[in-house]
Amino acid sequence: MVSNKTWQATGCELPKKQKAQGSSKDNSRGEVKLLVVDDEPRLCHSLKELLELQGYQCEAAIGGVAAIQALQHTKYDIILLDLNMPGVDGHKVMQFIKDRQLQSDVIIVSGESNFKEAAWALQQGAHDFLRKPYANGELLHSVKGAIQKRQLKAENSRMQKWLSDSERRYRFLVNNSPDIIYMLDEKGCFSFINNRISCLLGYNNDELLGKHYSEVVHPHDLIKAHLTFDEHRIEPNPRPNIEFRIMKKGAKSLPDNLFESQLVTVELNAVGVYEDQEETNNTQFIGTYGVIRDISERKKAEAIINHQLYHDVLTALPNRVLLRDRLDIAILHAKRNGTMLAVMYLDLDGFKIINDSLGHMTGDELLQAVAQRLRLSLREGDTLARVGGDEFNLLLPEVNCREDAAVIARKIINNLKQSFEIDGTEIFIGLSIGIALYPDDGDQIDMLIKNADMAMYHIKGRGKNGYEFFSNNMLGRISRHNSLENGLHKALEENQFVLMFQPQQTADTGEIVGVESLIRWQHPEEGLISPIDFISLAEETGQITDIGEWVLRTACAEYSRWREQGIEGIKIAVNLSAAQLYRADFVETVLSILEENQMPGELLELEITENSLVQDIEHVVEKLRQLAKHGIRVAVDDFGTGYSSLCYLQSLPLNTLKIDGSFINTIKSTDDKHSIISAIVTMAKDMKLGVIAEGVETKTQLDYLRSIGCPQVQGYFLSYPLSADNTLELLSQSQIH
Ligand code: C2E
Ligand code: CA
Ligand code: CA
Repeated sequence: MVSNKTWQATGCELPKKQKAQGSSKDNSRGEVKLLVVDDEPRLCHSLKELLELQGYQCEAAIGGVAAIQALQHTKYDIILLDLNMPGVDGHKVMQFIKDRQLQSDVIIVSGESNFKEAAWALQQGAHDFLRKPYANGELLHSVKGAIQKRQLKAENSRMQKWLSDSERRYRFLVNNSPDIIYMLDEKGCFSFINNRISCLLGYNNDELLGKHYSEVVHPHDLIKAHLTFDEHRIEPNPRPNIEFRIMKKGAKSLPDNLFESQLVTVELNAVGVYEDQEETNNTQFIGTYGVIRDISERKKAEAIINHQLYHDVLTALPNRVLLRDRLDIAILHAKRNGTMLAVMYLDLDGFKIINDSLGHMTGDELLQAVAQRLRLSLREGDTLARVGGDEFNLLLPEVNCREDAAVIARKIINNLKQSFEIDGTEIFIGLSIGIALYPDDGDQIDMLIKNADMAMYHIKGRGKNGYEFFSNNMLGRISRHNSLENGLHKALEENQFVLMFQPQQTADTGEIVGVESLIRWQHPEEGLISPIDFISLAEETGQITDIGEWVLRTACAEYSRWREQGIEGIKIAVNLSAAQLYRADFVETVLSILEENQMPGELLELEITENSLVQDIEHVVEKLRQLAKHGIRVAVDDFGTGYSSLCYLQSLPLNTLKIDGSFINTIKSTDDKHSIISAIVTMAKDMKLGVIAEGVETKTQLDYLRSIGCPQVQGYFLSYPLSADNTLELLSQSQIH
């Protein structure tokens, strides 16, 4: 046990003494009250005078009766008592003092000289025994001695009280400390532990007494715990506090079966305790005492901060930093084992449009939902990270071949096909994935990510929503992509765009019923560039709205020139990008262009791809209704490639379905059963929609389409897209015949 000395050394001061002990001339004499008791009045008074001369307060009682009377109502510090008195003698007075437990000190002054009397008096608690006759000095010395004894006694009892108060205070502080405060004996068993243990670990206070500390330490952390629990130094630990886990009462002792909830992470600080050995003048180690602090909350906060450093706040996915870290490890691992790994670059198609049209809140919710769905396609050990607005990277640390990665890419794309419902709005979103493999496409982090990114750009340029592996010949195309992006900024100003027109004809008679305007870019160095190579680029950069407006204006202006030449009754089709549709002033722009050209709405057909129609349907429906009010027609472009069903489109004010060329392309013979195409034609007729089959390249295809009653066709077999002048020529001829 710790000695009192140790406790006092921890910062508590002893109370100040109130009087200097034993000072010979103390000015407190006046406060000491004396009573002189003697049956001889002369003796009694002379003694009183003697004492008063010394500065004491003094009273005299002649005889025992008077003494008892005086004692009944006055407290005296010292009584000078004669033993031999007639009637009530000194013995009786002593008895009275004892019975009443008066705190007075008695000096017996007696003519008796026998030893028995003196012994009796001292036994009864008398301070001193003086035999008459006494010398004055002897008497005064005895009085002074009595006074000093009283003062020491008073001092002592004050000290006792201070000590017990102080102990009470310490006990309160120790027991109410938010930390566990404990003492161990030299064997490491608890000899003291404060109340905190009960709420932290569920033990009763004394339940752990005598038990070894290892009973509460998590078995995996015992080595760390030994370092501090066995502390022998008396200075506080100079090392940083050591952390380990302690177990709650009743926790299973099998380390691997322990739940987090049964553990408390703590930090411990301890010092050794030594006792002085009087015989040998040495000190002996008698144990330790220490403070155990619960740091679970701090650990949780640290974990949150750590998580934030390595994770994306919106989706809670790992961020770029963590991805690079994992990729670094995965590359090392693959190098050592001679295995392959895949890095994928994922980018949502058309996310910008959703974000701009539906607002950032919806965009954020969509990203969260996408992240969650992407996770479903992954195995444990794969890392999916968000690395930009709508860009994700995926690390597959274990792939055996290319096809393994392709399977995952297809699975991811498939999982995203089903629509998302965000705040009651149904949203479809496509995904483009570029894939790079270690070691074929790079053996460094940056190289692999860059090449996956390049492959992703490549698939974006080729119609999106798919995956592509990196290949070396992409390098040239990417630099072209970059130079196109730079050139696109100037293309409009410098009038580098041109429109071509492809006729749309009836399948049975070949009569031209419309033309579709198709943009080209007359690049100063590259020559004529196909829209496939720059439309998605313009969509990503946002330039598409200006370009689209130029197309609409130019097509209508061209058409009004043809009308001036007598062309009548055909419609002109213009392709729209989703971004145009989402512009607030879209309908006004279309109407003002029609007005500029004095063109009735019925002559204009806007081609909108299936996928942009089904995004944010309520918004779109409203716009389509306004267009319909002005007679403007709407065609669903690339029908069949998207996510919508016919029934879904039924609710929209539409006029025409354009069956995508990829379906027509499959027609190799008129006998084939092309059930999808004929189903579309039949259903479209039921819905009173016009149908145009796109991409008709062969006579067989035309014949088949005729045989199933497809009303209109468009394709190279009938005509390539033509310049405006050639179109006018063709239209003029066809209207003459
Ligand atoms: P689209 O709207 O599906 O246009 C039809 C595309 O098929 C045109 O390609 C056309 O030249 C091509 N085509 C026509 N007949 C045949 C055929 O028999 N076989 C094959 N294989 N292809 C045929 P183009 O002009 O290269 O346009 C490609 C795409 O670029 C268009 O597909 C459209 O999505 C987009 N685009 C073209 N002009 C514009 C425009 O002004 N605005 C917008 N937003 N997109 C446009
Ligand atoms: Ca089209
Ligand atoms: Ca089309």
